[in-house]
Amino acid sequence: MVSRRNFLKLGAATATATLAGGVSLSSAKDLPVKGGKDFSPKTGRRMGFASRKAIPTSCWSCVTRCPAMGYVEDGRLVKMEGHPNSIRTEGVMCAKGQAGVNQLYDPDRILHPMKRVGKRGEGKWKRISWDEALNEVAGRLKKLRDDGHPEKFMFHYGRMKSSSSKLIKSVFLATYGTGTGGNHTSICEGGKWTAQEFTWGGHYDNWDFDNTRFVLNFGSNVLEAHTNHVPTAHRLLWAMAERDLRMVTFDVRLSNTAAKSSEWVPIKPGTDLAVVLAMCNVVMSEDLYKGDGEDFLKFCKATANNNASVVDKVATLKAHLAQYTPAWAEEISGVSADKIASIAREFAAARPGCVINYRGSVAHYNGHDTERAIQMLASITGNI
Ligand code: SF4
Repeated sequence: MVSRRNFLKLGAATATATLAGGVSLSSAKDLPVKGGKDFSPKTGRRMGFASRKAIPTSCWSCVTRCPAMGYVEDGRLVKMEGHPNSIRTEGVMCAKGQAGVNQLYDPDRILHPMKRVGKRGEGKWKRISWDEALNEVAGRLKKLRDDGHPEKFMFHYGRMKSSSSKLIKSVFLATYGTGTGGNHTSICEGGKWTAQEFTWGGHYDNWDFDNTRFVLNFGSNVLEAHTNHVPTAHRLLWAMAERDLRMVTFDVRLSNTAAKSSEWVPIKPGTDLAVVLAMCNVVMSEDLYKGDGEDFLKFCKATANNNASVVDKVATLKAHLAQYTPAWAEEISGVSADKIASIAREFAAARPGCVINYRGSVAHYNGHDTERAIQMLASITGNI
């Protein structure tokens, strides 16, 4: 049977074969190329393939690191597209990635070391050489270490590129003697990852949108931006379009993801934890954990006793969660008790399901605990 997805793939393959047959690139000759048939930003004239080089690369405009193709005209990058052979992105690229050309040639991009010469905030800088910059930084680092306080040196960065991470953290910082660092994650989803590390010993989300029947979403704007954005959003949209996947989104605002969901449930900021705990209460008190959830409890620690039986774990969870009723959560979150209970029942019954979340629920003072509660909800419904 030819599904809509297969039909589109067939069309893309046919078009690719046609293009590749008539085109020869000066590099990456065997790659089917989509780019090039547009107008040159340099001359304003229509471009043919022969005038551009297609250079395989990857996008670093976010942590997803999508495989990409850069199109170079007279030594200048003029266009970015998804890599057509990528099984992760299925050849597509988001708008931010395509706009990466502007980042490269931004007139305000800092290309040299700059030293502040005015007061902080005054915006006065002068260009200095690399030697001057390195000597100044090294002098300050040496003083801190000589004074016996290497930990006062904080290494602050955005994202490190692959092997540079090992080099800087394991060699430079370890040799110098500081473990003090700050990065993108510190102000983003740090609470989520630490909670997963406390719960599972490691972290990373990897949702099975190709097979899930129900997505319960607490504060992720997954269709617009997310860790692993393009591959994740692409697979979720396929599932919504082809399998009528049901998605319920709790969010303080009507984001594009909330608007595309089967149902949007507005919630007060920072109160997802109460709703999730109440859902866990419904699952345990109504015995909805039986089946996959009960099986998974064999592998979870729910009591002080490492060797507790599943019966003991169930009794402990029921007793602990009894206080978190849907009515209690309604007072805190503004979401009606009936809505909380009905979505909990629906999620527990719709196996396989998956619960997803991001900064909408974890970028709060209680985000770490919210993530742990979400992992509990996934565990007791057997949706890990
Ligand atoms: S999701 Fe978009 S911005 Fe992020 S790496 Fe992929 S193309 Fe680039």
